[in-house]
Amino acid sequence: MALIVQKYGGSSVADAASIKRVAKRVAEAKRAGNDVVVVVSAMGDTTDELIDLATQVTPLPPQREMDILLTAGERISMSLLAMAIHNLGVDAKSFTGQQAGVITDETYGKARIIDVTPSRITDTLAEGSVAIVAGFQGVNPSTNDVTTLGRGGSDTTAVALAAALKADVCEIYTDVDGVFTADPRIVPSARKLDRLGYDEMLEMAASGAKVLMLRCVEYARRYGVPVHVRSSFSTHTGTLVTDQPSEGEEVEQPIIAGVAHDRSEAKVTVVGVPDVPGKAARIFEVVAGSGVNIDMIVQNVSVAATGLTDISFTLPATDGAAATTALTEHQPDIGFRSLQYDDTIGKLSLVGAGMKSHPGVSARLFAALSDAGINIEMISTSEIRISVVTRADSLDDAVRAVHTAFELDATEDEAVVYGGTGR
Ligand code: ADP
Ligand code: ASP
Ligand code: MG
Repeated sequence: MALIVQKYGGSSVADAASIKRVAKRVAEAKRAGNDVVVVVSAMGDTTDELIDLATQVTPLPPQREMDILLTAGERISMSLLAMAIHNLGVDAKSFTGQQAGVITDETYGKARIIDVTPSRITDTLAEGSVAIVAGFQGVNPSTNDVTTLGRGGSDTTAVALAAALKADVCEIYTDVDGVFTADPRIVPSARKLDRLGYDEMLEMAASGAKVLMLRCVEYARRYGVPVHVRSSFSTHTGTLVTDQPSEGEEVEQPIIAGVAHDRSEAKVTVVGVPDVPGKAARIFEVVAGSGVNIDMIVQNVSVAATGLTDISFTLPATDGAAATTALTEHQPDIGFRSLQYDDTIGKLSLVGAGMKSHPGVSARLFAALSDAGINIEMISTSEIRISVVTRADSLDDAVRAVHTAFELDATEDEAVVYGGTGR
């Protein structure tokens, strides 16, 4: 008998029929003799629809109310799933994040889990029932207010519960068969990866592969939770994210794990910055002071005649207004000429632990993009990742060109996307 945590994403519980299908899977796992804890996301695109609704009643929804609103999505799916499981003759009880003991800090909208005290879940398992937990939410103990964990946060709820309960495995059920060498919605010839280390999965998630939330991977690595990403629409084995080597694994790692893409960033260019010490520091102090995290930075060579330079950086597009407002306020003391804002960019990242020890990876990436006629606007690298910024409308072509150039295309079947709207 094992303790299994299963998480079902929004597309797996999009309507009543899907909830009944998931209920069957859960009941089967329970009847096979396992203790089962299920984490659910909101049905389909409910979270996006609730955000749309909020912005229809006010341009700037208060964050506390926003979190209360969004946690409602997961409460609907958790109770419906518990009812559907009951209907199959298996006892099931649903719990909000707060009831399940998911304790967070106070940051509405992107709260961090600081503790998990799942006594009600262990009691429920001891009674022989299935425990269903609303994903993506917790409680701030100092105010008793509910918080949300950031988009895709149900993945993190699942891994945090798996760690706290010392589960044997955490299964993340979604609308594709696992983690692929690229998003199957863009690259139908993408290949499913059987195994992936935490570091590579972290870079993929940080670079936009939303199949797993970044925080969930950080959590899984810290607590050594093996994560099995698989489809709720098929019975295929998915991708195991773990640092445990499999039996008979090749010693040499493949150079490249995959290609990730991200459409959610924007680029700010600070034009005409005096090229003297301290100006870059001031610019990024001001941006940090507005609570914005930046990603890539490029500083141009200054023009000798004017002694002025341009500095560009990327940031989440949702933080664009905060950063540009703060910079504009400080324009007189920093002394730059103007600001340009561009949210029609895309970011492509090539990820692979093997690239550390392999020369020529960047050259091959740039050649693939140039052969496809795609211009590179910015570049950044880490030990196991190379990222480039392109125009947003050439991003899909860029991903396909790079995927092919690194010989990642599958030779057999096309990747299946079973559901979801890709929103
Ligand atoms: P869920 O609602 O189940 O949480 P998500 O939409 O958050 O599902 O994540 C699954 C989606 O992630 C897939 O439908 C796919 O489009 C996208 N995705 C992006 N990159 C990858 C990748 N490398 N492998 C698999 N899926 C990916
Ligand atoms: N429902 C939340 C979202 O859409 C959390 C999740 O799906 O993981 O972001
Ligand atoms: Mg998700």
